[in-house]
Amino acid sequence: MRILLVEDEREFADTLRVALERERFVVDHVDRLTMAREAALTGPYDLVLLDRTLPDGDGLSLVPALRATNPGLPVIVLSARGELLDRIAGLDEGADDYLIKPFALDEMFARIRAVRRRPAELGIEEIRAGALVFDLTNDEAVVAGVSLDLARRELRVLATLMKRRGRTVLRESLEQAVFGFDDEVQSNTLDSHISRLRRKLTDAGADVEIHAVRGVGYLLRATP
Ligand code: CA
Repeated sequence: MRILLVEDEREFADTLRVALERERFVVDHVDRLTMAREAALTGPYDLVLLDRTLPDGDGLSLVPALRATNPGLPVIVLSARGELLDRIAGLDEGADDYLIKPFALDEMFARIRAVRRRPAELGIEEIRAGALVFDLTNDEAVVAGVSLDLARRELRVLATLMKRRGRTVLRESLEQAVFGFDDEVQSNTLDSHISRLRRKLTDAGADVEIHAVRGVGYLLRATP
């Protein structure tokens, strides 16, 4: 599960990042609204933790655009402003929840669990393509009841392709899903993850193909 953390207080952001990574979340941290907008609208995130008081604006102003492009993406607003009116404003803008600073890390994890449960309640806890099932709750790929032995990055590539199955996924989106902001991406690394993934899918008997769209990206579809 990949989280976009938008927070300009360095120490606080570090504390959150360490705690989240300990729970095996992948965390990308940005400290400006402009960076947050770009990352949130294009990146493959499962959750956004969004501070309000950022140097270049109110984090809340990002929520309507996020709602428009990705209605299912949970957003938890972090704010020192605990007044009732502010809280209502945050939820009116479409935020899923609100954490008031200072908050206990346990409380943050409880809220994260709560917003993550919602997609499952809506019945989208797994994605299917042919005999391949991607279990979003447990983050695993299964063919005919057998879990595929995939490396972490292969899993991320597959999750991203499965979420947009039947459509072309841009190379940049896949690279963002697989590598953090800070990682140096070799131009051929994504392709080697894809070829290993193809081999493992074939070996497992999955009736899907990962089609290369030359110069653009990749597309996953069930083979007829
Ligand atoms: Ca702040």
